[in-house]
Amino acid sequence: MYTYERLLSDIGELEGVERLVLGITWGGRIIPCVHVGSKRGRQLIVCAAIHAREHITAQLAMRLLGECRKRAGELFGWGIYFIPMANPDGVELCIRGTESVRSAWDRENVLKINGGCPDFSLWKANLVGIDLNVNFDARFGTGVSNVFSPAPENYVGEAPFSEPESRALVDFTKKVRPSAVISYHCKGEMIFWKFHQQANLLRDRILAEALAEVTGYELVDEMGSAGGYKDWCIQHLGIPAFTIEVGSDAFPHPFPYSELDRIFEQNRQVPFALIKNML
Ligand SMILES: [Zn+2]
Repeated sequence: MYTYERLLSDIGELEGVERLVLGITWGGRIIPCVHVGSKRGRQLIVCAAIHAREHITAQLAMRLLGECRKRAGELFGWGIYFIPMANPDGVELCIRGTESVRSAWDRENVLKINGGCPDFSLWKANLVGIDLNVNFDARFGTGVSNVFSPAPENYVGEAPFSEPESRALVDFTKKVRPSAVISYHCKGEMIFWKFHQQANLLRDRILAEALAEVTGYELVDEMGSAGGYKDWCIQHLGIPAFTIEVGSDAFPHPFPYSELDRIFEQNRQVPFALIKNML
């Protein structure tokens, strides 16, 4: 499985890239980011593993990063910021359980939130039971699956951006002002592209169709969710932003890494297709 340690080691081995730190998590881990391509041109942000149990997407993001470095000529002067693991505390909790939690208080707290169960392999939230992908200021708290107390998934938090991880992501995104955003999730082989946008509906639909074509994934309109990273990007920046759910529903969570090669093949054209269609 793709641990935080492996991620940091893989990032450490990259040459000729810029490494950045987005912020520090509840558990004291850095949220790493790697930039490839030009800093002067338009920028794309590719974010993954904001949901803990979807850690396969962190390794996918690292493979895509490698692909973009190899095919830099096909970026047409764009730059890409890869944020392979937006929720490192959650991923570590998923993979290594409470052993990954340094503070005794946090350890006791996560066990309580998990109903006393030591198996965290299905955990989606951050270290304090807040689901980061419903913690953004975009129709906050109105999602159909939202819950309102700490939980392994779907708890929105006390207020938008209550969490260091979602704040780090939004502050960074505001600073970069990307032209487009991709947020990787797992699973279902679907692409979510819509969030109540009106003026840019046709533009975003055309881009989503291009991504559906290269991945073979299904386009899905709104499903009553709110407060997500892509939702915030659409609502507040007016840019095209996509949640891509990789991996077939034929497999249960925790999602098998034996599917990674297939998932990579399905997604390897994604950054290039998006850029080409935005030139
Ligand atoms: Zn997810």
